[in-house]
Amino acid sequence: MENLNNNFDVIVVGAGTGGSIAARFVAKKGLSVCLIDRKDKKDIGNKICGDAVGTEIFDFLKINHPKDDEFSCRIKGAKLYSPNQKKCIDLTDPKQAGYIINRLEFGQRLLNEAINSGVDQFLDKTLVLDLLYDNNKVNGVKVKLNNGDNVDLYSKILIDASGFYSPLRKRARGILVEKEISKEDSILCYREIVNFSPHDLKIKDPDYITIILNQDKAPGGYIWYFPKNESSVNIGLGTYMSIKGKVKSLYRQNVFNEFIKTSTYEIVSSGGGVVPVRRPLWSCADDGIMFIGDAACQVNPLHGGGIDPSMRGGFYAAKTAVAAIEKEDFSIKALWNYNYSVMTTFGAEFASLDLLRMTLQVLSNEELNFALKQDLFSGEEILEISSTGEFELPLLSMVSKALKGITRPNLLLDLNYLRIRMNEISNLYKNFPTDINHFDEWKNRAIQIYDKIRKIIINTKRVK
Ligand SMILES: Cc1cc2nc3c(=O)[nH]c(=O)nc-3n(C[C@H](O)[C@H](O)[C@H](O)COP(=O)(O)OP(=O)(O)OC[C@H]3O[C@@H](n4cnc5c(N)ncnc54)[C@H](O)[C@@H]3O)c2cc1C
Repeated sequence: MENLNNNFDVIVVGAGTGGSIAARFVAKKGLSVCLIDRKDKKDIGNKICGDAVGTEIFDFLKINHPKDDEFSCRIKGAKLYSPNQKKCIDLTDPKQAGYIINRLEFGQRLLNEAINSGVDQFLDKTLVLDLLYDNNKVNGVKVKLNNGDNVDLYSKILIDASGFYSPLRKRARGILVEKEISKEDSILCYREIVNFSPHDLKIKDPDYITIILNQDKAPGGYIWYFPKNESSVNIGLGTYMSIKGKVKSLYRQNVFNEFIKTSTYEIVSSGGGVVPVRRPLWSCADDGIMFIGDAACQVNPLHGGGIDPSMRGGFYAAKTAVAAIEKEDFSIKALWNYNYSVMTTFGAEFASLDLLRMTLQVLSNEELNFALKQDLFSGEEILEISSTGEFELPLLSMVSKALKGITRPNLLLDLNYLRIRMNEISNLYKNFPTDINHFDEWKNRAIQIYDKIRKIIINTKRVK
């Protein structure tokens, strides 16, 4: 390839939501950036997704909100249904409002804005194969260009935004960054975008996204129904990875047949994907490299939303890269601030929601019906938990819930124990060590909290 530049301050692998934001904010500071994606430029952003994103991230990054062809509709909040659908919790809060976007157009906008911010070299149809190391510090990547040539590209700092299947995380040397994400911490999703005539079928709750918990119909996950406009919906489900092979038939039976009650429709997009639903990687960085978005498990464990956190991760990584390059120090010590930014903000929330996710996954439909019917979780509490990762039940409310819940005392005790652990882990993350030398001690404390909840889960499974 003619005019190929091989040396950059920062190389960003993957031009999805996370990578485009990281490249944009590094380029804006005048550093040299190379952005790489294996897709053709015109396909970037075309990802199987529920297409829902909150409004907050656009204000946080001070970038334009979705509009024109990337905008599908505005959402006021979410409606959460019990398995028997007798109880619906209304989750409406300005902070939870958002958009349903057209994913391709949204991705194209983020990519073009990154390129226009001063990305020096954008390589599409380029497959990143491996990491390059110099003295155990990442200093670039081996890539296969669109003409078939293999070349080495060098960076002071590498940002990996290549998604859940990141080939680079698996090849990272050293023990700081986890290579594998366990199946228990991942959810398999399948979804379709279905168009129909508004004369044949009316959209259910057009201002809300609908979520239905049901352990038989979507084991370990949930069913979603997201309106796109008056004649189109994005519907799907997430389940345990072990359901692989059956996910399409579960979708057809429990989602499509339930919602699309007309014979005249068009399926305009269908497909599946995997979402990590756990706390972020223990460390999202190592010498010369930072991981963002799905590659770093930066996804809300409760609802699987990863667009917002991938963009937040991209922003924090860019900020840290700029500061490290200014100091000419690309070691993990210089990049530690990225871990600190992630763990003390959305990392604290996700670590706490991870405990909730693990517990909800082992509750039966009967227990979920009961807990929602008896308001063991109210709409306000769920909103509080999902936006802060904290779970404060006033004593009076606990007592009245205990009285209501007298026929299920163990469930209430478990939920109270969970509440204590969620607050504990959230506080631990908010006190993430600024000094890497205290990291092992911090991590051991976090593991102890997870182990306590795992014990309860194992006992619950044993009793069932
Ligand atoms: C079915 C489904 C529904 C979802 N619904 C929602 C939702 O409603 N709301 C929400 O917020 N989140 C949702 N998510 C999650 C969300 O889509 C992701 O969390 C988010 O896209 C992560 O962004 P990312 O930038 O980390 O990775 P991605 O968007 O996956 O981008 C990774 C990029 O890296 C490129 N790449 C990968 N490997 C290589 C390589 N070797 N070389 C070069 N390039 C490479 C890819 O081509 C891609 O462009 C959903 C996910 C799924 C699967």
